Amino acid sequence: MKFEQRIPRQTSADLFTEAKEYFPGGVNSPVRAFRSVSGPPLFIKEGKGSRMTDEDDNVFLDFCCSWGPLIHGHANDYIEGKVIETVRKGTSFGTPNRMGNRLGKLILDNHPYIERIRFVSSGTEAVMSAIRLARGVTGKTKILKFDGCYHGHVDSLLVKAGSGLATFGTSSSAGVPEAVAKDTLILPLNKPELLEETLGKYADDIACIIVEPVPANNGLLIQDKEWLECLRAKADKHNVLLIFDEVISGFRVGFTGAAGYYDVKPDIITFGKVIGGGFPVGAYAASAEIMDHISPVGPVYQAGTLSANPVAMAAGLAALELCLTPGFYELQAKKTHAMATAIEAYAKEKGYPLHVPHIGSIFWLAFGNERITRSDQIDPANMEYFKVIHHELLQTGVYLGPSGYEVGFVSGAHSVADLEEAVRKICAAMDVAFG
Ligand code: PLP
Repeated sequence: MKFEQRIPRQTSADLFTEAKEYFPGGVNSPVRAFRSVSGPPLFIKEGKGSRMTDEDDNVFLDFCCSWGPLIHGHANDYIEGKVIETVRKGTSFGTPNRMGNRLGKLILDNHPYIERIRFVSSGTEAVMSAIRLARGVTGKTKILKFDGCYHGHVDSLLVKAGSGLATFGTSSSAGVPEAVAKDTLILPLNKPELLEETLGKYADDIACIIVEPVPANNGLLIQDKEWLECLRAKADKHNVLLIFDEVISGFRVGFTGAAGYYDVKPDIITFGKVIGGGFPVGAYAASAEIMDHISPVGPVYQAGTLSANPVAMAAGLAALELCLTPGFYELQAKKTHAMATAIEAYAKEKGYPLHVPHIGSIFWLAFGNERITRSDQIDPANMEYFKVIHHELLQTGVYLGPSGYEVGFVSGAHSVADLEEAVRKICAAMDVAFG
């Protein structure tokens, strides 16, 4: 298929050519290179509310929202004000500061599953530290993860399944030693018997089970509550810690994330994205007993030069204060549900193979008509449809993350009218892709 450009993209194209002189592949994170969709990546110069503008002055209704952090949209006035006020007093001191206390208190006061939290600077760092903590607490080495869950670029989690169903991993990136990868076991999601069998054999060596309770990095693989309860029960039975990686779901599907949504209490939770209000913040949290294994109280070392700097804390605090506005999450979920069901209704009427799984303010354009709960149910051939839809949407001013495996995010800044506009444009793009 030929992808005809009906919007100007030359400035972005020129900047991308220049960027390739500086950065590998012209980018600082791989998916930004637009390898799975048409044309050069857009260079965005500014955003306000639900929209952002590229260097060619095209305006897009944004459903990527910086990959999830921007739950209140771009350049939210309240967050911006708090950040500017804080920046003026200095950006980082490398000391404890009151802003960190305030964010810590706000989170712990409103999240019944955790008692202590440690701030870091990214989701990857949060996961890496949580795994070290789990190993330190249990004295065990191996970790168990699930196919279809992403946990950042931590060595021991850049691991894919080898052959067979319950397997020791092999590294999925050059530079990850096989010796590291083999300490990670990988299972398919939602296979309780396999989980029991694996824990039965290896639990004496397994420190933790790590899972995205709302897997949102290989499409949106919404799990049943029973499966998450099963993880909790099996972890208890086999004396293994349970980590919920809530870098996406935390403060997104509700203030208490997936733990609260499903009412399943993990031992450790990792956070990122929304927690930083658009700034680089991650965190890991657990009971006081578990967190007391962290240095300087306990023997598990973890540190960070810019951890909990006041500017990032101010941004996170402002964002989470807004999240606590009564009715905030209900409204986002309602708007997202209305958009998803309108798209689905159109697809159904036309006989197009597409449905829209959604939870809270996260949604995914899923090809086929069957519910998808595991990554092996995704047919890669369907990503050609996504390429067409993505291209058509760019032409009409709607921005989705540049891969069919990525989910979309609705923010508090997306009005009902914005979402109705998106429905119309997504339906028109489907006509081109499937028509
Ligand atoms: N864990 C999950 C569930 C994620 O979605 C991500 C990033 O998308 C990470 C960890 C890594 O976070 P970061 O990109 O901030 O390092």
